[in-house]
Amino acid sequence: MRLSQYFLPVLKENPKEAQIVSHRLMLRAGMIQQSSAGIYSWLPLGLKVLSKIEQIVREEQNRAGANEIKMPTIQPSELWQESGRYDDYGLEMLRIKDRHDRDMLYGPTNEEQVTDICRTHLRSYKALPLNLYHIQWKFRDEVRPRFGVMRGREFLMKDAYSFDISKEAAKIAYNKMFVAYLKTFARMGLTAIPMEADTGPIGGDMSHEFIILADTGESGVFFHKDWLNTNMVADISFDEDLQPVVDQFTSLYARTDEMHDAAQCDVAAEDLMEKRGIEVGHIFYFGTKYSDPMGANVQGPDGKPQALHMGSYGIGVSRLVGAIIEASHDDRGIIWPEAVAPFDVAIVNLKPGHEQADAVSAGLYQSAQEAGYDALLDDSADSAGAKMATMDLIGVPWQIILGPRSLDEGQVEVKCRRTGESVKMSPDSALSYIKEQKNA
Ligand code: ATP
Ligand code: MG
Repeated sequence: MRLSQYFLPVLKENPKEAQIVSHRLMLRAGMIQQSSAGIYSWLPLGLKVLSKIEQIVREEQNRAGANEIKMPTIQPSELWQESGRYDDYGLEMLRIKDRHDRDMLYGPTNEEQVTDICRTHLRSYKALPLNLYHIQWKFRDEVRPRFGVMRGREFLMKDAYSFDISKEAAKIAYNKMFVAYLKTFARMGLTAIPMEADTGPIGGDMSHEFIILADTGESGVFFHKDWLNTNMVADISFDEDLQPVVDQFTSLYARTDEMHDAAQCDVAAEDLMEKRGIEVGHIFYFGTKYSDPMGANVQGPDGKPQALHMGSYGIGVSRLVGAIIEASHDDRGIIWPEAVAPFDVAIVNLKPGHEQADAVSAGLYQSAQEAGYDALLDDSADSAGAKMATMDLIGVPWQIILGPRSLDEGQVEVKCRRTGESVKMSPDSALSYIKEQKNA
């Protein structure tokens, strides 16, 4: 992408409406624009990051054996009347009437819709286990939308739903998602701690919220300090029995504050940490809560109808954009983990119009693309200072900076956004140097 052709409306001033750093930086970096409270347009840079996060989520769901579908955003009220949630859901649900005066709603979640799909098509336990997911916009009319995309009213969620014949089988499905979540968040450079969460009337231990630590987080959490040194990169195959893996992770104390009971907690006081965090995912087993009222049965091995055991598994895809920034920024701007960075490398031409600078930048830009990098060529007319500030603000991990002066010495500058270090070298070595550093 050439910056001169790219819509990147960066702001110099700090927007007053933004209370937390991720919201401020997303507005300043021209990633989003508010449409109304808690509802945003995603501008090119924001959409690029959102799509990269979405793709990581998708790949890890697929790897765990889930099937991608796409359910509608608008749902008929009848389904929710069947489950009993139409009246219970309250003011968070956006209710709509169509031209025939039918009650519709903008989906805050999709348990009913997916249960309807499965009751229509599943006949026998032999079709199980099954996990269906989609990545779709949700609407919840939150009382207090705030912090930009972190608590929006319209937001993008990945929601998966598992269907099994028994609680034991559902536990296997649950464990798969547990491990898939560890892998997903690790790929984004995040330490998301699975915290035991409230299962409500179902009881048991099959609900975890995945939480990343941040002072601005809305959740209070308690956990053993060893979590801070736990290797979250789960190099685990879905073919093995995942129970020991899940047991190993869950044996280390981590609870949301609703679940933490100081009297019951046996972690030594000096090992127990109390912090704030951002919920980026939530997995939940809820048994036959929807399949019972909605009549979602299959024929069991004994020939008798049995209600489906279900779990649901959410990831806040759009919330993650803000959450990653909360976890990774400095006073100059965003520091993207490379896996979700909008661009891998920027070639910053400090003097467009200068023959040699133009030729070298164009060459590097082409080679970067040929090497498979998502590259940004800064061919804008901005001042040198503004160019560097913009690259740091939008957080491009690797920046190759060049102008007449450096080229006179036969050199370009290669800068790493994360460390701030820059190294001078010949234009020809820049890309191989970046490749080496990335693999290091
Ligand atoms: P919260 O307690 O933050 O309201 P929730 O328990 O309502 O979350 P779920 O229904 O489990 O959330 O939704 C799954 C995921 O969707 C959450 O883990 C979160 O990452 C994301 N999410 C929920 N509500 C919002 C929102 N208003 N804006 C952005 N993301 C959200
Ligand atoms: Mg909520």
